[in-house]
Amino acid sequence: MALVNEHFLKLSDSYLFADIAKKVNAYKVSHPHQSVISLGIGDVTQPLAPAVIEAMHKAVDEMASKASFRGYGPERGYDFLREAILKNDFLPRGIHLDMSEIFVNDGAKSDTGNIGDIVRWDNSVGITDPVYPVYIDSNAMIGRAGTCKDGVWSNITYMPATAENDFCPAIPNHRVDMIYLCYPNNPTGTVLTKEQLKKWVDYALKNDAIIFYDAAYEAYIQEPDIPHSIYEIRGAKKCAIEFHSYSKTAGFTGVRCGYTVIPKDVKASTLNGDQRIALNQLWDRRQSTKFNGTSYISQRAAEAIYTPEGKRQIQETIGYYMENARIMRDHLTKLGIKVYGGVNAPYLWVKTPDNTPSWKFFENMLYGAGVVCTPGVGFGPSGEGYVRLTSFGNREDVIEAMRRLSAWMCG
Ligand SMILES: *Cc1c(COP(=O)(O)O)cnc(C)c1O
Repeated sequence: MALVNEHFLKLSDSYLFADIAKKVNAYKVSHPHQSVISLGIGDVTQPLAPAVIEAMHKAVDEMASKASFRGYGPERGYDFLREAILKNDFLPRGIHLDMSEIFVNDGAKSDTGNIGDIVRWDNSVGITDPVYPVYIDSNAMIGRAGTCKDGVWSNITYMPATAENDFCPAIPNHRVDMIYLCYPNNPTGTVLTKEQLKKWVDYALKNDAIIFYDAAYEAYIQEPDIPHSIYEIRGAKKCAIEFHSYSKTAGFTGVRCGYTVIPKDVKASTLNGDQRIALNQLWDRRQSTKFNGTSYISQRAAEAIYTPEGKRQIQETIGYYMENARIMRDHLTKLGIKVYGGVNAPYLWVKTPDNTPSWKFFENMLYGAGVVCTPGVGFGPSGEGYVRLTSFGNREDVIEAMRRLSAWMCG
């Protein structure tokens, strides 16, 4: 008799964005003439950069001829892309990595979800709260999260990030083996300074823990001195794995490409403590068995981001989204609403007035203004009393949404 992996049964089947869609549909049925603007979407809306499109067309043409056709590529990614990554994302920041420490992937979700394969199933896990749900659910699937009661997992240490601690989660007062950090943060849109991030690196080195650092929104950082990579912190090359994605950087949510960095010096112990194993070697083994590489066309597309035109074009689009964020921040602040994030990230984390519960505020805003947000509690218990707005929309929608919110709140 084949048995199921019962850890999957512990996962909640109510999916945040499905619940939102259901409520929005109910509203549309009862308000057929009212248009709905979504500031809840976590997907980009602007098209790919011309440099990227040109590179993709060229790559497609190469596939059409016998002399330049490409089949399976190297599992770690093509050298042309890994070289461009080292030269553009790390060297200018004084970070020296080796080509073999870069693994090109098909987006950061797969790797942040799969990385747990190479560490023991019963490691303890520390997670900032609220959080990108992948970190928790992927650990739950192999039993590492323990059991779930009232939305809280028994083997996960929740590290709250709220207005009370200025969204700088406290370091646990006990050991955890694995720590997930995402900065700039989804959903709160907040960042850590180098000094704040250094505390985590020091903790990991002292406790022999591994940090899983999700840098998916690194390109949105506008202020100087905010770390773009955890390897800007001394010692991080011994304790941190870093995930990058071109999804938000360059609108690759439908193209699929990113990369993971695993420095050779990141090691973890065997159970009896007699060996220290390089995680780079284990991940390489894992990938060469379960992954056959990112498409050549996607990797050429990613390479084009690093050309002078490519860089300029993607900065233009990032600037467009960040201008949306500025408009939203200014407008909501004028309405007397407390807003966090939105300065170095495309997300605004909005405190609901009078501590209104997230879902209640979501419905009030939908029925009062025809504007959709994402209830903060959907990202974890510490998200209660907040909602997330994204700046990935079209400018005219953002402006109209702000006009409606004014009318609703002042009317
Ligand atoms: C969007 C996002 C990613 C990127 O996912 P891809 O699989 O690369 O599209 C990674 N981490 C976080 C926190 C995100 O919000």
